[in-house]
Amino acid sequence: MLQQNVYATIITIGDELLIGQTIDTNSAWIAQELNKIGIWVHRRLAVGDVWKDIWQSLEEESRLSDVILITGGLGPTADDITKPLLCQYFGGKMVVNTEALQNVKHIFEVYLKKPMLERNLKQAEVPDTCTVIQNKRGTAPGMWFEKNGKIYMSMPGVPHEMKGMMLHSVIPQLSEKFGLPPIVHRTLLTAGIGESFLAERIREFESTLPANIKLAYLPNYGMVKLRLSAHGNDPRTAAKLEAEFDMLKQQITDVLVADSDTTMQEVVGNILKERKLSLSTAESCTGGYIAHQFTQIPGSSAFFKGGVITYSNELKEKFVDVQSATLKNNGAVSRETVLEMAEGVLRHTGSDYSIATSGIMGPDGGTPEKPVGTVWIGVASRNASEAHSFHFRFDRVRNIEMATMYGLNILRKFILD
Ligand code: AMP
Ligand code: MG
Repeated sequence: MLQQNVYATIITIGDELLIGQTIDTNSAWIAQELNKIGIWVHRRLAVGDVWKDIWQSLEEESRLSDVILITGGLGPTADDITKPLLCQYFGGKMVVNTEALQNVKHIFEVYLKKPMLERNLKQAEVPDTCTVIQNKRGTAPGMWFEKNGKIYMSMPGVPHEMKGMMLHSVIPQLSEKFGLPPIVHRTLLTAGIGESFLAERIREFESTLPANIKLAYLPNYGMVKLRLSAHGNDPRTAAKLEAEFDMLKQQITDVLVADSDTTMQEVVGNILKERKLSLSTAESCTGGYIAHQFTQIPGSSAFFKGGVITYSNELKEKFVDVQSATLKNNGAVSRETVLEMAEGVLRHTGSDYSIATSGIMGPDGGTPEKPVGTVWIGVASRNASEAHSFHFRFDRVRNIEMATMYGLNILRKFILD
């Protein structure tokens, strides 16, 4: 079947989502995956483990959407009511699914090494009106229903299990069923310019974009991603998208960090790796968060040597050779201190580049000269070093994240110079 537009609703079920105890990451992830195969998500909603609310959401969403994806409420405990509800909603009766039963038994024997409880056996039961989506990562099987031309699927709430099911079964089956052209994206990363200034810069470009190409602004921690999207696998659409993307790039060369959907740490890591250079860190106010950005990248050992968290003055002297006179005369949050930290860690580790941070992240500790949010960032190589200061105005956690991202951008520019 070939269909022009396919619309989806994602329903996430669980009381914990409504009180904010669990953050609904499932629907964001599912939306991204559906987007890749050209299914438009036009509604996402969260409902509690409440019979009438779930029932009502199914009725309402089936009027609006072609596909309804449901997560949550499939556990073996009494609060999870999705399965009996779906059984009633789609008619039919509960039957044991042999393959799902084998799976539950296998998990208990091999991984849990425990006898199964009656309630675990129940997990292998499904309504006889569904097609089972096997769960290779857990005990609760998924269920695929069709009614009045609409597709419904129910998956476990556990993100890892849901993702396995989506990738192994749901996405391939939906792609095949609807035969949709994918949505093509081109994304670039900018830093050092605010969203509104960027919008002003490219106003002309934006207003002349063809109707089938959409521009999105995705701001995050002092960086803004710009994404152009077009629907279709017509080669002319792809060529047009490419041409528009090139034009966009030309208008923002001074703030362009990368012309792909990437992160600042990956950009820095790739530059270091390509040039066979190494990096070390000496962090105070960011508490290892910069090092964490790098160690999250698979293969980061190719360029990241390691780092120290010198939070106290004592360790700044002991581990990275900051002079006590420097600390006494300028304070720990100063140009002089971060330069000595960057140079010290460079010497000790023998790396080609280093980065150091020191700041007052709040909520306390500010002074009139150095208010909360004051951060110094230093970078060094064997023949140069420089330091920059910032004033962030957020809460502690966000100040740390901002300092990290600004620091990475300083480092990137320093290496490229
Ligand atoms: P359930 O299938 O309802 O038993 O969900 C199992 C667990 O998955 C819950 O305890 C949550 O921790 C997690 N979970 C459920 N729904 C979501 C969701 N929408 N996003 C992220 N995690 C979820
Ligand atoms: Mg639940």
